[in-house]
Amino acid sequence: MLRTHTCGELRITDIDKTVKLSGWVQRSRDLGGMTFIDLRDRYGITQLVFNMETHATLCKKARKLGREYVIQVEGLVAERSNKNTKIPTGEIEITAENIVVLNESKLPPFTIEDNTDGGEELRMKYRYLDLRRNPLRKALELRHKMAITTRNYLDKQGFFDIETPYLIKSTPEGARDFIVPSRMNTNQFYALPQSPQTFKQLLMVAGYDRYYQIVKCFRDEDLRADRQPEFTQIDCEMAFVEQEDILDMFEGLTLHLFKEIKGMEIDKFPRMEYSDAMKYYGSDKPDIRFGMRFVELNDLTQDKGFAIFDQAELVVGIKADGLSDYSRKQLDQLTDLVRKPQIGAKGLVYIKYNSDGSFKSSVDKFYNTEDLQKITDRFEAKPGDLILILSGETEKVRKQLNELRLEMGNRLGYRNPNVFAPLWVVDFPLLEWDEDNGRFHAMHHPFTSPKPEDIALLETDPGKVRANAYDLVINGVEIGGGSIRIHNRELQKLMFKHLGFTEEEAQAQFGFLMDAFEYGAPPHGGVAFGFDRITSLFGGSDSIRDYIAFPKNNSGRDVMIDTPSLVSQAQLDELMLNIVKPTK
Ligand code: ASP
Repeated sequence: MLRTHTCGELRITDIDKTVKLSGWVQRSRDLGGMTFIDLRDRYGITQLVFNMETHATLCKKARKLGREYVIQVEGLVAERSNKNTKIPTGEIEITAENIVVLNESKLPPFTIEDNTDGGEELRMKYRYLDLRRNPLRKALELRHKMAITTRNYLDKQGFFDIETPYLIKSTPEGARDFIVPSRMNTNQFYALPQSPQTFKQLLMVAGYDRYYQIVKCFRDEDLRADRQPEFTQIDCEMAFVEQEDILDMFEGLTLHLFKEIKGMEIDKFPRMEYSDAMKYYGSDKPDIRFGMRFVELNDLTQDKGFAIFDQAELVVGIKADGLSDYSRKQLDQLTDLVRKPQIGAKGLVYIKYNSDGSFKSSVDKFYNTEDLQKITDRFEAKPGDLILILSGETEKVRKQLNELRLEMGNRLGYRNPNVFAPLWVVDFPLLEWDEDNGRFHAMHHPFTSPKPEDIALLETDPGKVRANAYDLVINGVEIGGGSIRIHNRELQKLMFKHLGFTEEEAQAQFGFLMDAFEYGAPPHGGVAFGFDRITSLFGGSDSIRDYIAFPKNNSGRDVMIDTPSLVSQAQLDELMLNIVKPTK
């Protein structure tokens, strides 16, 4: 071994031991008679001392070491006179007796420190250097712990870890597939799985009644901070269960992760129906770290001569505690915010319930003190509070108010990343109307079962059918979702019909699954958690990239290995693929 200890290991109790360490030169300081080097590895940093008086040649050699050189050092553990209480090895140092340069390093293009001077693109290009930095090392350590804790938990519950193929046939999860041409089957393609959905269901038919996998999924969709073209799920399925059993099992997993990883005891997760989530928070992933629930006001605001409210399908507001002294400028800022094209509100109405009990609103012309009192009473407002109201078409206005609510939550400091408020959102609609294509599509996926009591509605009012589908939401982030599945051929066929598939199309794409349902398919259901997302949430960040060793950038590129990239003509010929040649 090129070392006896790691750079994070030695303590005051190791004094006088002769040790060998290996690592990277983080920095060196030359103080005339002495040279100090901070030696770093994955485990920490240890200070090395070279003494000019006693070891002149060695000290001169040490002075020549550049940043990120890889060295091996042999020496004696000594007590430091100048202790550093910030690091675990801060009470000792190594009095060097010998060094070996294991490899030199070019000067890195950015500083390898907690707060680096490197821009995002540069750090992505040299990801292997960025990964040497503490914040990323910690992120990957957290990811590892989350994975191992998940595996241990599910193993104890009797789940089998079973791999499913990556070269498959398209499984619709609402995104585009990445496709892979097959050389041996000219003009035919595999698709990379958007999830192992159909395979895990087939495993249930096969009798493996508790399955899990920490698995890569691939979706070709536009990227955001919390999306990557390839990402990882904790994917699970169980047979002989009902919705409650699944919620219990995976609430158990989540609580276990909170306890083991963060040392936190979290209360039982509340359940919220999808329709309530939309009505009270304007979102299917409400952040319930704070209240600020929506209050509907149509009956109190209409017929007072204010045309905008009179014509609105929904008039709805929130109460911001203690903000009645917001200035004109602050209110204008909020108005500008909700009018941004991404949010799209036309305007914002405010009512200040002043500390002296008086009211000041942007609609004083239409509403007298008594009217305003009634409105603020509905919010249970106190003097000093501020009411913010939006109006318009129900669905749109709820979405807009959701954005405003989150912004006010930020401003009031209600969204502390160290506080966790999980909940299950349940009873999602089965189908969602797709304006662009003029038909319904599955809100979760086509294998989700309708609530038995709603099946009749499929013929009369498909939009009203509720599904046995659920999402786990934590702090406004959708951590995962799942459903009880259809396990009967006829119902699955009916579902495809409502999704606009012809019988032939359904058979061609999903015949294998419907056929399997005819060979003793047990009732089953499952869930998948976004592993990158739950890890970044535990890490207190909203960028999943920091928790993935080698992520893609916003255009789906890996700038380190420079891909996607062209392939050779010979490869294309072999695949019988013609591509439009780039002009340069
Ligand atoms: N396959 C689903 C997804 O990726 C999860 C599930 O229904 O289990 O969202």
